[in-house]
Amino acid sequence: MSDPFENAMQVVAESAELLGIERTYPGKAILDRLRIPDKIIRFRGSLQRDDGSITVYECYRIQHSDLLGPYKGGIRFHPSVDMSEIMALGLWMTLKTSLVDLPFGGAKGGIAVDPSQLSTAEVERLVRKYTYRLVNDIGPNIDIPAPDMGTGEREMTWIYDEYRKHRDLARAVVTGKPIFIGGSVGRREATGRGLVAVLQEALTDLGWRDCSVAIQGFGKVGAHAALDLHAKGIRVVAVGDVHGAVHDPRGLDIPALAKHAATTGTILGFDGAKPIDDLLGCECDALLPCALGNVITAESAPRIRARLIAEGANGPTTPEADRILAKRGIHILPDILANAGGVIVSYFEWVQNREGFYWEIEEVNEKLIKKITKAYRRVRDFAREKGVSFRHAANSLALEKIVAAMLARGVQ
Ligand code: GLU
Repeated sequence: MSDPFENAMQVVAESAELLGIERTYPGKAILDRLRIPDKIIRFRGSLQRDDGSITVYECYRIQHSDLLGPYKGGIRFHPSVDMSEIMALGLWMTLKTSLVDLPFGGAKGGIAVDPSQLSTAEVERLVRKYTYRLVNDIGPNIDIPAPDMGTGEREMTWIYDEYRKHRDLARAVVTGKPIFIGGSVGRREATGRGLVAVLQEALTDLGWRDCSVAIQGFGKVGAHAALDLHAKGIRVVAVGDVHGAVHDPRGLDIPALAKHAATTGTILGFDGAKPIDDLLGCECDALLPCALGNVITAESAPRIRARLIAEGANGPTTPEADRILAKRGIHILPDILANAGGVIVSYFEWVQNREGFYWEIEEVNEKLIKKITKAYRRVRDFAREKGVSFRHAANSLALEKIVAAMLARGVQ
């Protein structure tokens, strides 16, 4: 099994090599300072179950880097969570916030738990325990958590409430909250909307007038991307979730599919669409992995028929698969660019919480599209100029700022 953090660092090291960072700044240990996070917090979360028994979970918060501002990043609840995965996700947050020009560093947290196996009351107790243990390490100017896979507005509300018990009533301690307690309008749809904006920019550059899209994942990212594509008249021909995948070459009726998924809990059994086995290998122009990491591997990459991949998930493509896809001429819009819409609107939420003044949806969406489009164009121009992949271009642009801050701030 490959190690997620080692894989992530290997790619960053290649980008640093392209920039000539270690040669330009000898003796500054730039890569070593990215390899070891600022702070690793790993702890036990003992949960009292509804039946009175106790289950113990491994909990993490990796504060990767605060070079550019307070730590920022989501909290993941998934059985696959481990130290290496959270370290990789933390590193990617450092790169992502730098790339899209947010005044934040990078972090990620998680618990190795399957929340679908817990009752609501159990999840609440676990979130509160997690928050309580981290109460000295988070805060509006220290580290601002947010949702990630397996967590959402409900969990953010409990974090906010628990923090208030031990510290103060600080809306800006966490983002991705429900609107009625200070969440931003448009945050829920932001990752999907940003992903579609980046995809559309790429389609314009490629000169494709028509594009059929397949989406892996129909959760917070995939479903909103699908709805946005549908609203824009771009055909979504296949969608997959944990249970399976459905396909219709004429384009799926996404609002109806979303309704079906909301009532049945899966996209399977949707009227008028054919179930398919291999979503990644299905016939489409663009593939949007919007679920787990490491799904496009050396094994699955040769089957991919799409000519363009936009990474809604974090780390969906292994470095080996990256090389295979590059050889096959398949173009990748990398995660730290393509899925940055979520953290961009998290930033807007944090700003609104601090100002105490709340924006209209038009303002949020306009600012989101402007920021992510600008980042896309910088990545594209860098990639063209240096003749490198978009992934290396995105990493390089992110690294340039991080390294500048590292050198300016001195030894940390
Ligand atoms: N978990 C999301 C990400 O990976 C959002 C993070 C945030 O909003 O802070 O980008």
